[in-house]
Formats: sequence, C-alpha cells, structure tokens
Amino acid sequence: MNVVNDNNCSWINDLNPRSKINILSEDKSCDWIIIGAGYTGLSAARKLSELHPKKKIIIVDAQLAGEGASGRNSGYLVDTTLNDGFTSNKKLSKYKKKTDIYQLGINTVKKFIIEHQVDCDWNEAGKYFATSKKVDKKTLINFADTLTKLGFEYSFFNKKELNKKLGTSFYDLSLYTKGGILLHPGKLVRAMIDTLPYNVKLYERSQLLKWEKKGDMIFCKFKNNNIKTKKIIFCTNGFLNSLGIKKSYNFPITLTASMTRPLSDSEFKNMGEPKEWGVLPVRPMGATVRMTKDRRILIRNTAEVFNSFQMSNNELNKRCIIQKNGIKKRFPTLPDDIIESSWSGIVSRTRNSSQIFDKLDNNIFVAGSYNGSGIGVGTLFGEQIALKASNENSKEITVIEERTKPTWLPPQPFLNLGIKARLIYERFRAFSDT
Ligand SMILES: Cc1cc2nc3c(=O)[nH]c(=O)nc-3n(C[C@H](O)[C@H](O)[C@H](O)COP(=O)(O)OP(=O)(O)OC[C@H]3O[C@@H](n4cnc5c(N)ncnc54)[C@H](O)[C@@H]3O)c2cc1C
Repeated sequence: MNVVNDNNCSWINDLNPRSKINILSEDKSCDWIIIGAGYTGLSAARKLSELHPKKKIIIVDAQLAGEGASGRNSGYLVDTTLNDGFTSNKKLSKYKKKTDIYQLGINTVKKFIIEHQVDCDWNEAGKYFATSKKVDKKTLINFADTLTKLGFEYSFFNKKELNKKLGTSFYDLSLYTKGGILLHPGKLVRAMIDTLPYNVKLYERSQLLKWEKKGDMIFCKFKNNNIKTKKIIFCTNGFLNSLGIKKSYNFPITLTASMTRPLSDSEFKNMGEPKEWGVLPVRPMGATVRMTKDRRILIRNTAEVFNSFQMSNNELNKRCIIQKNGIKKRFPTLPDDIIESSWSGIVSRTRNSSQIFDKLDNNIFVAGSYNGSGIGVGTLFGEQIALKASNENSKEITVIEERTKPTWLPPQPFLNLGIKARLIYERFRAFSDT
C-alpha cells in the first residue's frame, strides 16, 4: 500500500512550498521514532524533545509532513460535537468526558499558538449545527438539553436569522454554540513543522513498510533503509489499521472536500456580507460548510470506505459534482465553475467514536482515531502519549484514560459490509442536507 495524497488541497496550496526536505537515505539508529508527522506526531515530537533534550528523536512521514488529514481538514477546532460516531452518546457522563477531552485539546492548541506566535486565522466564531429539515428540531432540542446540563452556551436561530448570518436561506433551524474555533488547518500544521526542536530529525517521503521488535530494540524497514530504535510511537491515524495497529478497533474512512475561489465583491455583497462562519450538519452524513476569513466557501459532504486510499482525479471529480450541487443548493446565484479545488483525506474511526491512546507493548505506543475531530484531540494526544511513553503522568492523561475505550469491531469482510450499509443509510437520511 502506498501512502500518497492528491496535490489539490487549497489549504496546503495557500502555503509557501517548503524547501529542505530530508528523505531517509541511510540506515539510522535513535532513541525514539515517531511514525506520522501530522498534528499527533509533530506534537509528540515537540513534547519528547522537551522531556529528553539529549536524546536522538526521529519523526518520519510517508509523504510531506502535515499534508495528510492535518493539512486538509475543515478547520473546526471543536468543544462539542453532535454527530461523532455510529452510536450516539446517550449518557451524559460519557458525553462530559468527551467534551472534557475536547476542551483539553483546545487548551493545548491555544498554548502552542500563543507560545510560538502562530498565525493560523484563529477565530473564536463558534459554530452552527444547522438543518433544512423541520423534523430535526427534536434532535436539536435534545442536544440543547445536554448542553444546558453541562453548562455550554448556545442559542437557536430561525431561517430568517440564519439567512442574515450565513447569507443563505437553505437552513431552516440551527443551534449555535458559542464555543468552537475556526482556523486554517494548513497554517497550524505548518507552524508545528517549522517549530520542530533542534534534536528532532524529520524524514519525509519515507514510508514505514514493516517493523518488528527483537529483544529491547525495534527494527523499522523503509524502502531502501532501516532505522533501529529503542522506543516507537505510532501516529499514523487513518493508516493505523494498514500497519496492523489496533486492527480490531479502528478503520479508515475517506472524506472529500471542495473549496471555491474567493467570492467577488458583488457576490459577497449579494449574500449580505456575512462574517466568517462554520456550519456542521445535524445528521451524520450532512454537509460541513464554511465561509472562510477570505470569503471562500468550503464544503465537505462525502465519507466512504475507499480502498486502497488513493483517489484518482477522475474519482475526485465525481465527488466534486456532489459538492458543486451542495453549493448550488445553498447559494444558487453563484456560478457553476466557482469551485477551485477538491481533495480527499483519510481519517480513522472507531465503532463507538472513542479515541485510541495506548501502550501496545514495552516501548511501543499509539495515539489516534479521532473520529473526524482531531485538530485539538490530536495535538493533545500527541503531547500526552509522549509523556506516557516517558513514564510521566499528567492530569490530562488521567482525563484521557477515563474515557470510554474503543470497542471491538467485527472482522472483514463483515466490517466493510457493515460500514458501507451504515453509510448508505446515513447518506439517505441526510440526502437533502448534503
Ligand atoms: C476532509 C477532512 C475534514 C476534516 N475536518 C476536521 C475538522 O473540521 N475538525 C477536526 O478536528 N478534524 C477534522 N478532520 C480530522 C483531522 O484532520 C484528523 O483527525 C487529524 O488531522 C489527525 O491528525 P494525525 O496527525 O493523527 O493524522 P494525519 O494528519 O493523518 O497524519 C498521519 C501521517 O502519517 C503518515 N503515514 C501514514 N502511514 C505511514 C507510514 N507507513 N509511514 C510513514 N508515515 C505514514 C501520513 O502520511 C500522515 O501524514 C478532518 C479530516 C478530513 C480528511
């Protein structure tokens, strides 16, 4: 299996191309190796360096660092979620544990951007859970009840109010939560790469093919070279399963998104010049839609099992049509050719939407499976898995370890059949809101 992404993502293409890309070209040995350089791996590397300034730390990525899901997501740093799994979190205490983790994630990202003076278009804009279906009112009222009990601030907006705030009359009703941040995911992950400490060596376009533990050492095999290490942390998220990590607990899902060009002055004026906003769907397979700071519209409305991960431009174009329709429904006056780019990205899911944070064996650790909410949680889990792997403790680890653990998945081919059936059902239910 080859880990390669398309080069289309607008967030990544907004950034200056990086120079000085090191590809693994000789055998190495180190104290620590981290596999995967997204939010999780880069945060783990940063924390390890702080804990072990004299140790040799290597981080590797199969592609360019930060260009996996971390550089190509929708940029919602969430405090609460409504649709975060295949089984709803009915119990308040479980949901509270989940939001406690989200909050720690927000704190960790915030600390990072303050410490390193990062400009990632951070906007504490809150988020809208919006629907065009009147029957979803009940779901939103139930959700509001949960939010009240946990002390989250929210308000309801009707169609007319939403039209004013979002510039579209598509939505009928929305629950707006004050918490939640919109940001530029590419800028955030790029800052994590640029601020990697001196004792962390990054190798890119270097895919781990195999690994094995022999005695006290771990042997990692890459295309032409090997790395021998004392400790390893797996941070490959959507690729954990393909590396055989926690295989019975996580599975990959491929998402696609599209972004328009910036709206012209007249297009923006016609819309009523709304401020930056982010809408999340009320039904799991509905569309995530965002108006960015620079007046681009992002839409993500597909999620599927797509083996073997790499999506051809032809396949991407098919998803782009679904996204074009999604934009047309919401903004009928915008031109048909307004979409500038479409891309895919891979995330990891678990059955009960809980995350993975584990010691697999002596000196072997893993963090991942954020079920589509990994900006904050990935950054948090990266730092905390580095602490755990260093035999340190923290209040964050206590909170993380109190969460509900991921539940066991049925074996293949039943798993894929089950996921596909579920996704088809959810797509059908959310059809008009895609
Ligand atoms: C379209 C889309 C929209 C999303 N929207 C949101 C959102 O709005 N909010 C939110 O919080 N989350 C969102 N997510 C999820 C979020 O992006 C992820 O949860 C997060 O990026 C996970 O970070 P990570 O570092 O664990 O994994 P990744 O960023 O996926 O990094 C893993 C890295 O491992 C590398 N790798 C894999 N296999 C190997 C190997 N064998 N050898 C070496 N390297 C390897 C990959 O190349 C990759 O760079 C979205 C994701 C997508 C795709």
